[in-house]
Amino acid sequence: EGGGDMAAGGAGDREGWCGAAAGGLALLGLAPGAPSCPHGPALLFVKTSQGKEEGRRFYACSACRDRKDCNFFQWEDEKVSETRLAAREEYNRNHQPFFTHRQNVERYKNFVLLPLSKRRFCQECQQLLLPDEWEKHSDHQFLCDISTAQLKSPSRLLYPLENKKTNAQYLFADRSCQFLLDLIIDLGFRRVLSVGTPRLHEIIQSKASQEEDFRVRSLLLDIDFRYSQFYAEDEFCHYNMFNHYFFGGEAARETCRKFLYQHNGERVIMVADPPFGGLVEALASSFKKLMAMWKEAEEGGHNSQEMPTFWIFPYFFESRILEFFPSFSMMDYQVDYDNHALYKHGKTGRRQSPVRIFTNLTPSMIVLPVEEGYRFCAICQRYVSSGNQHCEICNSCTSKDGRQWKHCVLCKKCVKPSWFHCSNCNCCALRNHTCEKTDAGCFVCGKAGHKRSTCPSLSHA
Ligand code: SAH
Ligand code: ZN
Ligand code: ZN
Ligand code: ZN
Ligand code: ZN
Repeated sequence: EGGGDMAAGGAGDREGWCGAAAGGLALLGLAPGAPSCPHGPALLFVKTSQGKEEGRRFYACSACRDRKDCNFFQWEDEKVSETRLAAREEYNRNHQPFFTHRQNVERYKNFVLLPLSKRRFCQECQQLLLPDEWEKHSDHQFLCDISTAQLKSPSRLLYPLENKKTNAQYLFADRSCQFLLDLIIDLGFRRVLSVGTPRLHEIIQSKASQEEDFRVRSLLLDIDFRYSQFYAEDEFCHYNMFNHYFFGGEAARETCRKFLYQHNGERVIMVADPPFGGLVEALASSFKKLMAMWKEAEEGGHNSQEMPTFWIFPYFFESRILEFFPSFSMMDYQVDYDNHALYKHGKTGRRQSPVRIFTNLTPSMIVLPVEEGYRFCAICQRYVSSGNQHCEICNSCTSKDGRQWKHCVLCKKCVKPSWFHCSNCNCCALRNHTCEKTDAGCFVCGKAGHKRSTCPSLSHA
């Protein structure tokens, strides 16, 4: 029925919400009474131009930015007939995974009882196979002799979903994953709410099952249901972090709530590594709900405290994240990935990753590895990249990307080393930039001959 909706709504009207980042669409958020697609309640959007809301509002899938993955569309003011509502409900039911989480747990129990020679994993269906299912998958590629080690490391068995627009599964490089775990342990945390961090979850669970004195536990919240084949119901919840939706309903929500309850003072930290195309406001709103869950789970109450959090995201989202979480600060640590061509370290020299850790913990407590060149800045009271020089004028270590930035007296701030001050644009930019168009008219007053930065209708202090 989603297809029918698209036809009715006009396929051309929705570009997929990647357009939102470009300023074409604005997210209005989770509205009460929003219709649902197979991924839970849809989000409300509106088309914008020049920062102003324009045109009809509409609902679209929260999780999928690519229409090919979920084409749910509904105008906000659209009347949906009873018949269509019923059809939609049925569609949503039919688009849930074939096996339930509970069934997958049962299957796993049977799977591990099999001798190695009978343990097969279908690569096409991304599914552990029981012998009576081999027949059905006979013309599929499969792996055999699935070892216990492989079962403990599903992020290596499953192929990463690299669909850029929807899932974008970028797995931590071992060095970054180990760094995060060591940091979490050193900070004294005992429970990790792993939101979209299957690889971190898996090293924690794997250590917990192998080392007797390893006390850390993790709960994975992820939209990738393939993981339900490997984890019990108190280790994994099928969850959508764009609308805070637990596919497993109240029971799953309760699992999460229980996990956040800090028995015997076992401290909890949330670590989230969302897809980067993701809408910051949708993510922030879900994280706030998880933080509220943590707060409620506490008997005594934490008063003004916030659940300790690491939000892993590219540095260029810093101002957006701080808008929603003023208590957060960005760490210089560069998070590396295995399967991301741009963001991983090369075999030889180090390629810079733009991905950082945003946290509400005191920056001075986040100790970064000196072997990798990070050093402590006594004035800023935090660890910074080797190239990040303390600027006397800004009185802070100003580099965001690890390179040494330079101070521009005219802009009154530090800028990227490759930038120069352009007197035309009245700000710093790349040398070969195209100056802000003057012929199109000023963004502020609409008159030709000047641009917004020199608009006479604005009084410049
Ligand atoms: N670096 C992490 C993986 C981050 S990739 C690690 O190595 O553990 C982003 C993760 O978010 C993936 O696991 C993906 O399945 C998950 N994800 C993508 N969209 C999601 C959504 N809407 N809700 C919850 N999880 C989502
Ligand atoms: Zn959907
Ligand atoms: Zn400094
Ligand atoms: Zn400066
Ligand atoms: Zn210019």
